[in-house]
Amino acid sequence: MSKQFDVVVIGGGPGGYVAAIRAAQLGFSTACIDEMKNAEGKASLGGTCLNVGCIPSKALLESSENVERLQHKFAAHGITVEGMKFDLATMLARKDKIVSQLTNGIGFLFKKNKVTSLLGRGKLLARNGDKWQIEVRDGATVDTIEATHVILATGSTPRQLPGTAVDNKLVLDNVGALSMPEVPKRLGVIGAGVIGLEMGSVWKRLGAEVTVLEAMPTFLAAADEAVAKEAFKLLTRETGLAIHMGVKIGEVKVGKKDIKVAYTDAEGKAQTATFDKLIVAIGRVPNSKDIAAEAAGLQIDERGFVVVDHDCRTSAPNVWAIGDVVRGPMLAHKASEEGVAVAERIAGQKPHIDFATIPWVIYTNPEVAWVGKTEQQLKAEGVPYKKGQFSNVPLGRALALGENKGFVKMLADARTDRILGVHIIGPFASELIAEAVVAMEFGASSEDIARIVHAHPSLSEAMHEAALGCDGRTLHS
Ligand code: FAD
Repeated sequence: MSKQFDVVVIGGGPGGYVAAIRAAQLGFSTACIDEMKNAEGKASLGGTCLNVGCIPSKALLESSENVERLQHKFAAHGITVEGMKFDLATMLARKDKIVSQLTNGIGFLFKKNKVTSLLGRGKLLARNGDKWQIEVRDGATVDTIEATHVILATGSTPRQLPGTAVDNKLVLDNVGALSMPEVPKRLGVIGAGVIGLEMGSVWKRLGAEVTVLEAMPTFLAAADEAVAKEAFKLLTRETGLAIHMGVKIGEVKVGKKDIKVAYTDAEGKAQTATFDKLIVAIGRVPNSKDIAAEAAGLQIDERGFVVVDHDCRTSAPNVWAIGDVVRGPMLAHKASEEGVAVAERIAGQKPHIDFATIPWVIYTNPEVAWVGKTEQQLKAEGVPYKKGQFSNVPLGRALALGENKGFVKMLADARTDRILGVHIIGPFASELIAEAVVAMEFGASSEDIARIVHAHPSLSEAMHEAALGCDGRTLHS
């Protein structure tokens, strides 16, 4: 007889592994199937995020920022280092060590919570009574298991540039971009989204000449316009990225040692750029192909997302889907929260996720983070709002850090004062945004933040001043 579980999760990324742990905590017999392997051929849990996404990118961003500090920022502190050099191999090994520490950690958490980890490719087959049959395939080894509930958490993979295959030697996706053994002299990046900008920043700081080509006319269109404008200015002027917006990519010729990209620039002029490496970062597509047999009756939309309702229920009974494979932002924390919520729904609980207060972060320098509505969205929706904005320029802590670029902007309802959005560009924006998320989740007004004591000197004082600014009473500008 096939092995039976209450819950089987397909995919062990931040959506799937968290769902599996929560389901096991709730007393369900749980298995998690994932096909990702490490160099030794063993399971490498954690999905895109831990293996080739969030974590390795942040490790390299930190290492490369240290190089940048030593080369360009420490002199202002009176610190100079003669003959500064860095060893890329050590930097990559440090990144790999962090990854394996975390992926192994999930194996430990699975054991602790009694989650069965199955290595292989999972596929939803058909329903047998009240049980789902699931195939687990690892090479020639094929097993079939059964589950009462199935959670699909298969994530996403990089979108391909039509006609240009990724070989991760010359043309790279995120996997190749995170493991280049040498710093390329000329690096091209197609796509000025979060991944393109983070990867471009890493390699620019390490010495590459980086050109970013983006089809959209508007830089960081999802961000608040004022933040996007400031980010464009700082990333081009200070980080030194050459960012070309509104381009139309033509032929990409991959040679033996270089890549020639023909494109039409925003003025309509034909251009050609030659690169030693090319990163393609034009978005990600959901992994929904081949996860279910036709008999499962799973509905997939025209963009490849598994169709779910607000609670992550699919069109098939007792089949749930979470994370990048369903609608909504492709963010690890969104995937994890959906995983927890689904496990709790299976247990009959009534969990809650507020999609309106999911924070967004871009880990460039300066960092960009936001939650809630942008000013352009409020204008388009005709919502009356007031705003407070405070620059980091005169902020004591920011000056002491030597990182006093950027600002905090708070948007509040003009009628009720309830905070509708907070937008930050500046040091540690990724950490500072948490205060705004909590405030919005609790339905706080700008006056609430204005009346909270913020430590001095701290970066959070900019949030305090922005809140005071909603009522026209900033103290330091
Ligand atoms: P995934 O993490 O993609 O995991 C899915 C897993 O399922 C994978 O292990 C895959 O191998 C496995 N799988 C797929 N199909 C099957 C199958 N049929 N059978 C078995 N296993 C299968 N997000 C953030 O929030 N913050 C960041 O800083 C951030 N940085 C990023 C940087 C980069 C370079 C990239 C590429 C992404 C980044 N993201 C970031 C996005 C984040 O990685 C994703 O949103 C997140 O990983 C989605 O989680 P998931 O569980 O839905 O899917």
